[in-house]
Amino acid sequence: MSDTIKIKLPDGSEKQAPRGTTSLDVAKSISPRLASAAIAAKATALGPGKESSNGDLVDLTRPLENDVELRILTDKDPEALQVFRHSSAHLLAAAVLELFPETKLGHGPATDNGFFYDFYRPTPFTPEDLEKIEKKMQELVQQDLPYAREFLPRDEGLQRFKREGDFMKCHFIEQFTAPDEKISIYRTGKFLDFCRGPHIPSTGRIKAFRLLSIAGAYWLGDEKNPQLQRIYGTSFYSKKELDDFLHKQEEAKKRNHHVLGKQLDLFSIQELAGPGLIFWHHKGGLIRKQMEDWMRDEYL
Ligand SMILES: [Zn+2]
Repeated sequence: MSDTIKIKLPDGSEKQAPRGTTSLDVAKSISPRLASAAIAAKATALGPGKESSNGDLVDLTRPLENDVELRILTDKDPEALQVFRHSSAHLLAAAVLELFPETKLGHGPATDNGFFYDFYRPTPFTPEDLEKIEKKMQELVQQDLPYAREFLPRDEGLQRFKREGDFMKCHFIEQFTAPDEKISIYRTGKFLDFCRGPHIPSTGRIKAFRLLSIAGAYWLGDEKNPQLQRIYGTSFYSKKELDDFLHKQEEAKKRNHHVLGKQLDLFSIQELAGPGLIFWHHKGGLIRKQMEDWMRDEYL
């Protein structure tokens, strides 16, 4: 086995690099700017029978062991934003564990607008707790902690999470891995997660984030199971993007139909009748009739 590998880049050029080179090394060798803008990479194995593969998202720090077609993803790639926000969810979990070490962890995916993480803890989180957690996240960003990957034999991983009482992580390991498989673990500070990744290289990349809300969710969606607390947040590559997002949220709140309905005297909801029944006031009733008339005309 040769100790160099071939790396094919999107512009068609090819590089030879030592086996075990990382995508971050490749990015650095192209330009320092690319290296600092890089979020993750997409690697497609080169060789017979591999052409149809769409490639795997990988950590920038993952060693490349075989000939590969490589695309470095930056903040311009939608897939990179998912990686960035999922990594932000890890940051949230790490901060929660620092402040509330008794918390048990569920999962923390990226969503359309940001990310969430599910936590199990008998005491509900308060809005003040969210502020504390945000501060702690900021500290962990300053520390620029790496998202370090380790592999463990499945049994060892299971035992480790079992010892901590992490029933949800144990469930995920049992559900998603085979008995003889090695499991993939990521460490961010004191926070250890069973996760396939990929993630950004380190927490210092997360420049702009905000925790948005808390909601209840049942473990596995079953009301007989413990109730979890789902903390929602969002993150962006720059403070400006975050500010724009928060501004839009505020504007949307002002246009919420509950607020407008009251302000414009259009309708009300009576507690006695329940939230499903709308009581139209005369202005709202008029608008409704005009909309219905318009719709009937369209149908005809
Ligand atoms: Zn993860």
